[in-house]
Amino acid sequence: MTSQSTVRIGLVLPDVMGTYGDGGNAVVLRQRLRMRGYDAEIVEITLSDPVPDSLDVYLLGGAEDSAQRLATRHLRQYPGMQRAAERGAPVLAICAAIQVLGNWYETSGGERVEGVGMIDVTTSPQAERAIGEVTTTPLLPELSDPLTGFENHRGGTTLGPDAAGLGTVTRGVGNGVGDGREGVVQGSVIGTYLHGPALARNPELADLLLKRALGVDTLAPLDLPEVDQLRRERLRA
Ligand code: GLN
Repeated sequence: MTSQSTVRIGLVLPDVMGTYGDGGNAVVLRQRLRMRGYDAEIVEITLSDPVPDSLDVYLLGGAEDSAQRLATRHLRQYPGMQRAAERGAPVLAICAAIQVLGNWYETSGGERVEGVGMIDVTTSPQAERAIGEVTTTPLLPELSDPLTGFENHRGGTTLGPDAAGLGTVTRGVGNGVGDGREGVVQGSVIGTYLHGPALARNPELADLLLKRALGVDTLAPLDLPEVDQLRRERLRA
């Protein structure tokens, strides 16, 4: 992308995926870009739209089982995001979106649904729903600050050999299959069970997505005491 053009932030299927204000992740990215002098806009892709492959970054939120199934069908039918990810466009998948982008997931009713196949994970319902605050130590070398968010999911996600964890759990459940991992990283896809919305609570993760979207190594730092305070409160809670 060139420095003159508008950065286009894809908010994917907010009509069916976006529990707990996950759409706020798009607002955070747009604001962090504008504060640095970039033009930025949010492009909402709904179930009525084919998914374009031309956007700079793609964001997907969480969902309950039936909504999740509609999203899976749509993304398989219109593989624009898959093409974009192959050229390196960053994708952030929250909670149910991890499950949707994986190889398959089982609903809480026990039915197996074929996923989009972008990340090497599978998901099955666990005996107990995971609900509460989560803190992790990031495993990506570009991240050093603890990740914070809250989780609410019954699915437990197993990472296959092509997928790595996003963080090591220090509080909460995370992927929920006993390996101490939270989230997933594969190619340009980052998945996490963290709601919050995640990018409001984790500015370092927001800026990592922006650096990748812009193709730059560094971004001007932003001095936002209210974000620091939010993090202090949540990490202490
Ligand atoms: N329905 C999925 C589960 O319970 C995801 C829930 C969510 O996105 N919050 O595992």
